[in-house]
Amino acid sequence: MSDQRHSPIEGVTVIDHPLIRVKLTTVRDRTTPSEEFRRELRELANLMTFEIARDFPIVERVVETPLAPYAGAALARPVIIAPILRAGLGFVDGMLQVLSNASVGHIGMYRNEVTHRPESYYFKLPSHLSSAEVLVVDPMLATGWSATGAITQLKEKGARYLRYVCLVSCPEGLQQLRTTHPDVPIFTAAIDPELNADAYIVPGLGDAGDRYFGTYSYPQ
Ligand code: URA
Repeated sequence: MSDQRHSPIEGVTVIDHPLIRVKLTTVRDRTTPSEEFRRELRELANLMTFEIARDFPIVERVVETPLAPYAGAALARPVIIAPILRAGLGFVDGMLQVLSNASVGHIGMYRNEVTHRPESYYFKLPSHLSSAEVLVVDPMLATGWSATGAITQLKEKGARYLRYVCLVSCPEGLQQLRTTHPDVPIFTAAIDPELNADAYIVPGLGDAGDRYFGTYSYPQ
């Protein structure tokens, strides 16, 4: 997939691939039921992980094949997948299929109804945070405030090698995150044109958490 990515904004990789476009179309479709939405989101996370991990540093690992020694490779750093609750959970299984040794941390944020800014209610990450590749995941990068807050918290706790992963982003969220944390590369499958007054990405896919967990109340 090396020639299938482009960067309209510095530090932002748009992972563009026919399979990703097809699956992204399915999850955007309002008639896709939760069962299929979950499966497609898992497969999207799985496919995106190849590109996200493209420049992970490796070290030599020598193994014995049945015939001879072989100088192969191992990842230089452990990997932590850090979903922002709750929609970020939809990415975890797909990533674990190809990063099977990864640890999973959890970051809970809620929206303060007075300040409209996210506040932390849960933060549980493994103690090797500072030596790990940390993949912060949330399918939708909308206002960018949760992403920014989550990364600020992770840095305060010692995280150094961070990447932000989302499925759909928009200019407002990208700008917010790039401005506050310009050192953190962002990976997305699409940049949609706008954010509406209710902070939904348009065209987007609706509420990713509701669609993943089947908690929507609008007609399907
Ligand atoms: N969160 C979602 O789930 N969807 C959006 O469009 C924006 C934020």
